[in-house]
Amino acid sequence: MTDLHHRALSSHELDYTLGALAMHIEPLVEIKKLISYGSGDNKIIFKSSSADLDPDRIVTADGIPILFPASDEKTVYTISGGRLIFNHDLLKSAFYLLSGYQEFSQPDLRDQWGRFPYRHSIQYRLGCIHKPLVNYYFEWIIKGLLEYADQLKIDIRRRSPLGKITLHLTHDVDSVRYFSARRTLYRIAQTVGLRPADMKRKFIVGNVLTAICNYLKITNKKNPYWTFDLIRNVERYFGFTSTWFFLPKVGGVFDADYDFEDDDIRQVITRLEQQDFEIGLHGPIGTIRDGSRLKAMLATLRRTAPKASNNIRQHFLSADSVDTLRQMSQAGFECDCSLGFSEHEGFRFGYCHPFRPFDPETGQAMDIWEIPLQVMDVTLLMHRKLNSDEVFESIGRIADECRLFGGVFSLLWHNSTFDEKAVPGVSRLFEDVYLFLSQYSPISLTTNEIIQKMNRYSPSVSDDRRKPLF
Ligand SMILES: [Zn+2]
Repeated sequence: MTDLHHRALSSHELDYTLGALAMHIEPLVEIKKLISYGSGDNKIIFKSSSADLDPDRIVTADGIPILFPASDEKTVYTISGGRLIFNHDLLKSAFYLLSGYQEFSQPDLRDQWGRFPYRHSIQYRLGCIHKPLVNYYFEWIIKGLLEYADQLKIDIRRRSPLGKITLHLTHDVDSVRYFSARRTLYRIAQTVGLRPADMKRKFIVGNVLTAICNYLKITNKKNPYWTFDLIRNVERYFGFTSTWFFLPKVGGVFDADYDFEDDDIRQVITRLEQQDFEIGLHGPIGTIRDGSRLKAMLATLRRTAPKASNNIRQHFLSADSVDTLRQMSQAGFECDCSLGFSEHEGFRFGYCHPFRPFDPETGQAMDIWEIPLQVMDVTLLMHRKLNSDEVFESIGRIADECRLFGGVFSLLWHNSTFDEKAVPGVSRLFEDVYLFLSQYSPISLTTNEIIQKMNRYSPSVSDDRRKPLF
C-alpha cells in the first residue's frame, strides 16, 4: 500500500468508506452508480485530494476541520450545471480517521503498552478530539444528497442504526482485593519510593496499616474495590444495563488479583448473569497479538460464566487497531471495545457509531465490530486530573455529539474506582455522572445488544428521514 499522503483513495479504500456511509443513508447502491470520485463526469462528483495531510492548510466548515481540502471553495458542496459537487475530499478525510490510517501508517509511534499515543494524533494537533469528524463529513454528504434528491429522481432516505443516543456502560474488573498481600507489598514499595505513589503518602501508610490490622483481624475495614452491589443498584435505579469484562489471572504483574473460580467471584458473576448484565473477557497484558490465547481464556471464563459473550476489551486498552483486531476476529470474537485514547477522552476514530475496522492488508473491513471507547474514569481522574465541573463539561460535549448523531456514548468505570482516599467524592461523582447521562433520555444497551442491533439494522421509524440534522 502506497502512502496515502501522496495519492487519492484506492478503489478498496473508497468502497470501505462508502460501506460505512451506507449505515447512514439508502439506497447507496443506486447512489453509488452516480458517483465520480476525482475524475469522471457523473452527476455526483467528489473532488479528490492527492496532497499530503498538512495541518496548516486544513480548511474548516461550520467549525469542523476538513483534513483534505480539494479546492478554494468555502462551501462543502455546490449544486450547479445539474450536478452535485463536493468541493473537498470528504471521503479521504473520513477514511483517514475511520480506518485508523494515522495509527497503522506510523507503527513506530507506540507507548510501552503498544498503544498509539494521543499526542501524536491529528485530533490533538487540531484540538478536535471532542468532535466526531467522520459523522460530520457523512452528514454533509447526506445533506447534499437530500437537497439534490429531486434532480436524481431517487428516493433518498436517512438511516439511523440505533435510533437515538445509546449508552454503552462498561466495567473492567481488574482488582477486587484492596487489602491483598500483593497490593500491601506494592503499597510498602510505594512508601519507600520503589514504586510511584498514586495517592498522598499518609494515605498509603494508612492503607498498609489497615491491611495489616485486617489481616490480624484487629479491624474489618470495608473493601472499597468490592462495589458490585453499589454499581448494580445505581444502574438499576436509572434503568440502565452494562457489560462487565473479567480479567484472567495469568501470573503477570498487572493481571487480576482474583481467579474466575474464587467463590465470591463465582457468586458475583452468577448474580450478574441472572440479572441480564453481560459478561465479557478482559484480555490481559501480553495478548495484544495472540488471538488463540484470548480464545482459550474465554473458554476458561465460560466455565464460571456460561453466558459470557464473544465480546472483549483489552486491559490497559492495550490493543493495536489492526493487529489485535485481526487476531480477535480470527479467534471468533464479535466485538472489541478497547479503542479509545487512554490519555484523553473523545473520539479516537472521529466516529460515534460502532464500525468494522479496516484491514490494510486485505483492503477490506474486518469481520468484527468495534465500539470505540469515549470516556474512561482513569482518564478523567488520574491522567487528566479533572475536577467535577470539568468532568461534566467534557462528558457533556461528547454526549451532545452522540445525541446529535444518534450514536453510542461508551463509558468505562472500573469497580476499583471508588476509593475515597485516592479520589475524595468519587462515589458521589459516579452517581452524578449517571444522573447527568440519564438527562439525555438515552437507550442503555449491553455490548451484545448493540451489535445485534447493528447486525439486524432496523432504522428508527420515528426519524424524520428526509431532513438533514443541521
Ligand atoms: Zn483493565
